[in-house]
Amino acid sequence: VFFFCWAAMAEAKYIPYKDPKQPINIRIQDLLSRMTLKEKIGQMVQIDRTVASRKAMKKYYLGSVLSGGGSVPAMHASPETWVDMVSDFQKGSLSTRLGIPMIYGIDAVHGHNNVYKATIFPHNVGLGAARDPALVKKIGAATALEVRATGIQYAFAPCVAVCRDPRWGRCYESYSEDPKIVREMTEIISGLQGEIPPSGRKGAPYVAGQKKIAACAKHFVGDGGTTKGINENNTVISRHGLLGIHMAGYYNAVMKGVSTVMVSYSSWNGIKMHSNSELITGFLKNTLKFRGFVISDWAGIDRMTTPDRANYTYSIVTGVNAGIDMIMIPYRYKDFIHGLTSLVKKNFVPMSRIDDAVKRILRVKFMMGLFEHPLPDYSMTKYLGMQEHRDLAREAVRKSLVLLKNGEAADKPLLPLPKKTSRILVAGTHADNIGNQCGGWTIEWQGRSGNITKGTTILTAIKNTVDPKTEIVCSENPDTEYIKSNKFSFAVVVVGEPPYSEGFGDSLNLTIPEPGPSIIKNVCGSLKCVVVLITGRPVVIQPYLSQIDALVAAWLPGTEGQGVADVLFGDYGFSGKLPHTWFKTVDQLPMNVGDRHYDPLFPFGYGLTAEPKKGN
Ligand code: BGC
Repeated sequence: VFFFCWAAMAEAKYIPYKDPKQPINIRIQDLLSRMTLKEKIGQMVQIDRTVASRKAMKKYYLGSVLSGGGSVPAMHASPETWVDMVSDFQKGSLSTRLGIPMIYGIDAVHGHNNVYKATIFPHNVGLGAARDPALVKKIGAATALEVRATGIQYAFAPCVAVCRDPRWGRCYESYSEDPKIVREMTEIISGLQGEIPPSGRKGAPYVAGQKKIAACAKHFVGDGGTTKGINENNTVISRHGLLGIHMAGYYNAVMKGVSTVMVSYSSWNGIKMHSNSELITGFLKNTLKFRGFVISDWAGIDRMTTPDRANYTYSIVTGVNAGIDMIMIPYRYKDFIHGLTSLVKKNFVPMSRIDDAVKRILRVKFMMGLFEHPLPDYSMTKYLGMQEHRDLAREAVRKSLVLLKNGEAADKPLLPLPKKTSRILVAGTHADNIGNQCGGWTIEWQGRSGNITKGTTILTAIKNTVDPKTEIVCSENPDTEYIKSNKFSFAVVVVGEPPYSEGFGDSLNLTIPEPGPSIIKNVCGSLKCVVVLITGRPVVIQPYLSQIDALVAAWLPGTEGQGVADVLFGDYGFSGKLPHTWFKTVDQLPMNVGDRHYDPLFPFGYGLTAEPKKGN
């Protein structure tokens, strides 16, 4: 009896960190005071899902798991499969002595792009053309719901890079070359995480409950300014330039309560950002008062020394002391744990630094209610790819289109096209291809051409839009004989770049690959034509411009191709404006608005309007 009473009393002992009524700081202090060094270091570790297991979560007290580069549990996995996977890892974490929940992160960068049948929104470049902060906020909210539908609580988005050179393969992840637009588009954070209340503490992370997710402003800082746009390279710029141009998004992100910030692989004036204590700790944490956590990029610590891991001890000590709180390792986490443990024991990394990192991670977890609701809710799977989100994506597509040319003279516009005509030719490599329409970071890291997920291609959208009596003929790459022998009223040519992501998209020539240019020449040489470009950035177009009657930049619109047809056929007007300067020739690059020798083909902010044509 005595033993039973004693045990019951011990159990009933009040544990402040478990009490949601306690202020977060008290909960953090209490929990931290109970943690061993091993438990603390575990919190700082994020591993890839392919090496994660319930057992590993428990054994190493791991703080986080990710799906790197859109690494998915199974091709075409259902949301329930995702939820099962996340729950399984979480159960490992919950079975530890202190039961600290893990947080699962993923690149949901244009909707929940990793998941089959999810709604895929236009990539950021298109949203920068739409310039509608209220719209991106709604996109953030929809993305949060779709991410939660798979049990995930954290997205590595938004990318607030200011792309200053379209040769960069990640230019489409940037909203604009203009820092002001990037700053405005951080409104997506209010959608992903919820709107921070006016009483919200400056710099504190904010996530409003179970329908919202933690966001991540990335890549800190200067990722869009590297020489020749080479990915992960060196950004040469004055401090004034760095703070004025590339830091723009971070001021607002922090004000909106962004939970996390990811460090850039790139260097600033030769110094790796992963080692830049002055900017991470000095500027972001001390000056901007950011109180969420800083995460490394994928193996970012390993890559601090070249070749990777050449001096891993140096990398760990420098990265952690610079102020990185969570380390996206992502595979060889045991080496990291071992390395950091001995560095702390030898006093190369002060205990105060470890405590600061852990406090920041716990703050985000407490703030978002992860301790109270650690396990996913299966009833949320219904949010994935829901019609309301598809309608929103379609609206975003309509608003993102930029009309660059419309007929030879203003009084003879080609657009909007008539819905009722005899026969239309739809041509091009991107006319009937969801994968091309979505670009990189879709289902796979690099994206993939073809029928990779559910959506409406531009061809299908045109068929849905025209009068039932109008004949649509589709031929990807028609020869001139064919074009001439069929009496077409006009043609819509949809061509562009193949899908790519990160460094694989770096390009020094920025041409659209064949057969794109030949299709333009053949079709536009014979017929009145509208060219719709599906690209992540401005590309070489000047040589073909005189042949093209109307030109539309549609960026990477995502799954809802119907938005393109809505505008081409006049149900809605054109309103998008160029988020990037459109160069004449690549030897002009880099060229940004405000430069002394600014001589673009189409200037930043350019975009013709065409009014809707009702009853067309
Ligand atoms: C990219 C990040 C991304 C991370 C995780 C890295 O290669 O630079 O933007 O969040 O992978 O997938």
